Amino acid sequence: MEYRLPTTVVPARYDLRLEPDLDAATFTGEETVSVTVTEPVTEVVLNAVELLIQSVAVEGADGVAVQGSVALEAEAERARLLFPAPIPPGEWRLRLAFTGVLNDRLHGFYRSTYKDAAGVSHTIAATQFESTDARRGFPCWDEPAFKAVFGVTLVVPEGLAAVSNAAVATEAPAGPGKKAVSFADTIRMSTYLVAFVVGELEATDPVMVGETPLRIWCVPGKKQLARFGVAAGAFSLEFFEGYYGLPYPGDKLDLLAIPDFAAGAMENLGAVTFRETALLVDETAASHAELERVADVVAHEVAHMWFGDLVTMAWWNGIWLNEAFATFMELLAVDAWKPEWKRWVTFGVSRAAAMGVDGLQNTRPIEFEVRAPRDCEAMFDLLTYEKGASVLRMLEQHLGPDVFRDGVRLYLDRHRFANAETTDLWKALGDAARQPIPEIMDGWIFHPGYPLVTVEPEGPGLRLTQRRFTYLEGGPEGQWRIPILLRASVKRGVVEKHLLLEDRELAVPLPAAADWVVVNAGGHGFYRVRYAAPLLKKLLGALTRVMPIDRFDLVSDCFALTQSGAMSAYDYLELTARFTAETDRPVWTVLIASFAYVDRVIGSELRPGLAALVRHRVAPAVERLGWEPQPGEGELERQLRGDLLRVLGTLGDDPATKERARELYARHRKDELVVDPNLLPALIAIVAWTGGEEEYAWFLDRFKSARTPQEEQRYLYALAGFRQPELLSRTLERTINGEVRSQDAPFLVRALLTGVYSRGLAWEFVKQHWETMAGQYPGSAYRRMWEGITALVSAEWERDVRAFFSSRPIVLGGKTLEQYLEQLRVAVSFQDREGQGLAAYLGRIRR
Ligand SMILES: [Zn+2]
Repeated sequence: MEYRLPTTVVPARYDLRLEPDLDAATFTGEETVSVTVTEPVTEVVLNAVELLIQSVAVEGADGVAVQGSVALEAEAERARLLFPAPIPPGEWRLRLAFTGVLNDRLHGFYRSTYKDAAGVSHTIAATQFESTDARRGFPCWDEPAFKAVFGVTLVVPEGLAAVSNAAVATEAPAGPGKKAVSFADTIRMSTYLVAFVVGELEATDPVMVGETPLRIWCVPGKKQLARFGVAAGAFSLEFFEGYYGLPYPGDKLDLLAIPDFAAGAMENLGAVTFRETALLVDETAASHAELERVADVVAHEVAHMWFGDLVTMAWWNGIWLNEAFATFMELLAVDAWKPEWKRWVTFGVSRAAAMGVDGLQNTRPIEFEVRAPRDCEAMFDLLTYEKGASVLRMLEQHLGPDVFRDGVRLYLDRHRFANAETTDLWKALGDAARQPIPEIMDGWIFHPGYPLVTVEPEGPGLRLTQRRFTYLEGGPEGQWRIPILLRASVKRGVVEKHLLLEDRELAVPLPAAADWVVVNAGGHGFYRVRYAAPLLKKLLGALTRVMPIDRFDLVSDCFALTQSGAMSAYDYLELTARFTAETDRPVWTVLIASFAYVDRVIGSELRPGLAALVRHRVAPAVERLGWEPQPGEGELERQLRGDLLRVLGTLGDDPATKERARELYARHRKDELVVDPNLLPALIAIVAWTGGEEEYAWFLDRFKSARTPQEEQRYLYALAGFRQPELLSRTLERTINGEVRSQDAPFLVRALLTGVYSRGLAWEFVKQHWETMAGQYPGSAYRRMWEGITALVSAEWERDVRAFFSSRPIVLGGKTLEQYLEQLRVAVSFQDREGQGLAAYLGRIRR
């Protein structure tokens, strides 16, 4: 099927007038599109879906209008406007009138509802147009390269707020009880960035950042949760104006919290929309992780005002140009704002997550051909964001931060208000760096996967060898140009070497045999390292002398090697015993994740052994940290305390921890100020793990009456953390009965599919109700829900899962489903291969 629009008619400007009816959940619209016709046409093809186009006319400079008719192509999401005689080349105006529906699927022009403190329901109309849903809001050339200027007017009831991309230009009465709000012209931009939000919303007082007023909008009663988001937004805006050397491209910047929102946030120029958890937060009651999320998402969206909005990819295959850069820039800005958060170090966890997907046979290159709209949705994944940001960081470190920034400035300056492709970026960076970039980067961007670098001793020096890393054997090989930072401890001290591993092998001379060696020092490289046995032994003996990120990579790489069969589970678990003195949060994150993975693989008879292992590894760290925040302690330590206590009280099943957590939580119920916000999520998890009816009812009530978006999330997901089947069944019912917002329900289902005690029930439930879920959940979240199947680790479940998908028309876009199935295959092979070894190891652990 043909999805791309012809370029014989090109829009330059849309004048849009939209009138939503929030009660009826419909809208009416009129638009005048100024177009350039490049060759004679009798039909104009543009995008429209779920719109009723009532009239169409074309008008030339003489002002004479010629009526046309409309043929809709539902499947291709296009409308053909047919005219009786050819329209000659030149400037024309198309006039259209149409109606549409404010849908409940969180895309296009949609409806979001919320209840106020008195329990009264209110409706907001909002938009989510990326990737290809502007066509649900108004007929348009809905491809990123058809940039145009938008002049928007919203006709709304007098009491409601109306927000769009640009500042309000005029407001005038428009019939009884209504006003017409007209906004200034936007910059020349893509349709997917257009936004309208209408409803009872209130805004913070504007904060001036240079020339730009910045505000946060939210439903009434939540303004006190906006302070942190405003601070993050103001810092990012100033930071990026400096970094990019170009002023902010809009005339104001509004950040809007929408109660129902499918993604995390959306970078509509000047009117960025967020789900509430990503923007509104109570600083005094939030954990570090919750604050970091708000800072990350806000910085990411502000970065997009340049990367994505001012300069846009020419087509969806280049979406990494938007998302990888915004992710990279988000980290740069947050690291500058809160250096004590060590954001580039903690990013290791995200990089490792991307490597988890990119180590599959069913991975894809970062830049990948995209044709159908459904496939561009699947591009919004770990490979685009996290792998993309990782390889940019690798390049930045290779070229030097200043050279890299100069290249970025050149790129933005050359392509502003227009579109660009990856080659344009390489050209700009190459001009700044005076060296060819494609040679180094094309392997990382246009080829799937990444290398495993094996390090062996050779004389006094080393030999490095590369091959592709995959979890399952087979598949095509690859070769990369790998910038390597190697650190070695030799007699005269620690030496550093910057290398480029271009061929399959590289000999690295050292003056003398090293005490220890770290390859990928600092962790900026997107590759894994396998140390030969003697080198691994030496490195494990020097853990306190290398950087935390190096320890993180060591554990992460060793566990991946274990999943792939290159290291035994026995050896891996033995290795984890070396980390009982560990103090770094990301290192613990990967250790804990590996224990949870083992938990999903083993049978219930080995669970007490695993619990004993977890206690042995974690308890010493908990002992050092204690239960109370210490003076002078940073946020990362506080968050680590919460993480460790959570795992000790659940997976570790530690009686003393469980008891103390329950006591503390009981005190928290009476006085909320008793408990450190970083500890509270752990207490909630432990209370769910050990709790029954009473606790379930209390959590449900707290979820429904939560005062902050974060509190709502904590109690919602805790409903998946109970262990009694009756309670879990009730949580499952809540995923489809309307009690849980459709933006959250799919993620709750995913949590239930992943939990060791809930997965069996959840799988039966999902098999029975997937059609209901498909009808209720937003598409992108429905796709992510299915990731839960990767935790159904048994040969029997695997067969059942495969049979289920082969007999049903479930299409998740791109290679999403194949990736989930392969991850399940990796886990089941791990179970087959390591079952005995795990039983031997865990059976022997002293309880
Ligand atoms: Zn983004």
